[in-house]
Amino acid sequence: MKIKAAVTHANAEPFQIETVDLEEPKAGEILVKIAACGICHTDEAAQHEQVPTPLPAVLGHEGAGIVEKVGEGVTEFKKGDRVGFSFAFCGHCDNCHTAHVASCEHFNDINFGGVLRDGTSRLSQNGETLSMFFGQSAFAEYAVVDADCAIKVEDDSIDLGIVAPLGCGIQTGAGTVLNFLKPEFGTSIVVFGCGTVGMSAIMAARIAGCSKIIGVGGNEKSLKLALEIGATHVINRKQCDDIVGEIKRITGGGANYSIDTSGVPDFVRKGLHCLAPMGVEVVVGITPPMEIDMFGELMAEGKTISGVIEGAAVPKVFIPKMLEYYRQGRFPVDKLVKYYSFADINQAFADSHNGTALKAVVRMDEGWEK
Ligand SMILES: [Zn+2]
Ligand SMILES: [Zn+2]
Repeated sequence: MKIKAAVTHANAEPFQIETVDLEEPKAGEILVKIAACGICHTDEAAQHEQVPTPLPAVLGHEGAGIVEKVGEGVTEFKKGDRVGFSFAFCGHCDNCHTAHVASCEHFNDINFGGVLRDGTSRLSQNGETLSMFFGQSAFAEYAVVDADCAIKVEDDSIDLGIVAPLGCGIQTGAGTVLNFLKPEFGTSIVVFGCGTVGMSAIMAARIAGCSKIIGVGGNEKSLKLALEIGATHVINRKQCDDIVGEIKRITGGGANYSIDTSGVPDFVRKGLHCLAPMGVEVVVGITPPMEIDMFGELMAEGKTISGVIEGAAVPKVFIPKMLEYYRQGRFPVDKLVKYYSFADINQAFADSHNGTALKAVVRMDEGWEK
């Protein structure tokens, strides 16, 4: 079928909304009319060829919409179901079998390789294959997605514009706390970087019952919001000369956990130094190579440093949980979101890049207010 999609033709070029061809869903796949798609930094990385997705491509990996058609063998969904999407995984490697789908052994091939699980793309333009992204390519009117990567939204009152961004960045922040760290109540946690991922970690730390939740960031407006959604303390990195000392003062000797969402080596290091003995740091930001003194900075105080992908989530289990907390007002993700019409996708990226929008979401559906 002919659909409109935002095509990325070459490195660093703006998105062009053009007509492309989308094939029918194959066995195990569903065709979805897209309502909204969040913008994540990985889209920008792909637009600038910093990930191995061959261009031209249709990006977008935080889609949500309404099922239009199901492929052979799909029993979980029917036409009219409201769904969100998350990352793709193979479903048959050891990590998938043990419910560590975010660490699927084929994660990079399927999510960044331009194809779906069967090694082919459903998208083309004038006979030329277009790369798919994260098994969905949701910057489009329609997408073909593996049914395993779609999550049914049971509550009709929840806006699909809220469901969309849960598929990647928000899941990464919240899942790192709730699926990976699982902090005991009364513990302390520091979050470096108050973007979408950091804010989601802060909201999750409040759900987990952390007693001290410290947000470290450089934008006063974001720090104010961090306090509103769950942080007990914030530190403006531009106004504090001794961030580690300040964290130790607040926590009475050091934090139990820290999460780096910034990808800045200096903050990754501070995230280790601000911990109490036995503390755990998780790095979720894309960080360039850096050196760590294994004895002095890690071993001597029994500290741990880990990397976590996609919040160690099983999206079909975790996304409904986030939606339930959202419904109860305990996971106020709507406070992060700014909507743009699909036609304004380049503006949404610009605002996302310069921090005007914390979480930009483009909408393909009708009937919402700008
Ligand atoms: Zn797998
Ligand atoms: Zn993402």
